[in-house]
Amino acid sequence: MLLIIEKETLVELARLVGGEEAAKVMRLLISRPGIVDEQIAKKLNMDVREVRKILHRLNSIGILYYELARDKKTDHRIFKWYVQEEQATGFIISNMQKIRERLIEKLQAEESNQFYWCGILGHPRLLFDQAMEQLFRCPVCKKPMEPHENRDLIEALKRKIEEIEKALSEMTEARKSEVAEKAE
Ligand SMILES: [Zn+2]
Repeated sequence: MLLIIEKETLVELARLVGGEEAAKVMRLLISRPGIVDEQIAKKLNMDVREVRKILHRLNSIGILYYELARDKKTDHRIFKWYVQEEQATGFIISNMQKIRERLIEKLQAEESNQFYWCGILGHPRLLFDQAMEQLFRCPVCKKPMEPHENRDLIEALKRKIEEIEKALSEMTEARKSEVAEKAE
């Protein structure tokens, strides 16, 4: 069960990096390690150049690797592609940890400060001192800035942090059980 979550996480990661096509390529790579780009293109009914672009994209973030071989019939160089699972999981985990840290910092800033804002999305929210320097006028639109009621934002941040923590603990569990399986 935990392994299934992890495979889906890999597919999800590919989707984030290269869209729906990349997700399909990743799914195929998981079930057919060592598959060649032309086979991928054939199987998924995609342009082989598109497949190569996706493979290189995924390779550039370190979640794939390839073996260089020679086609026995044509003697051409061929690339056999594999998923670097351990690396991919590590990549996801460290990125999620970074996001989690940033959200916690943001949450703390929201909880311990009063912000002033003109109410227009994209315009800055300023701390009291900064707002006072601007005479409580938005530096962009010059409208008056009011104290910003940020309770909803705080709730949303807390929910997001919880979600990430849950996903992180699932992934670390999946990783532990994989390591345990290998050791047996
Ligand atoms: Zn404004």
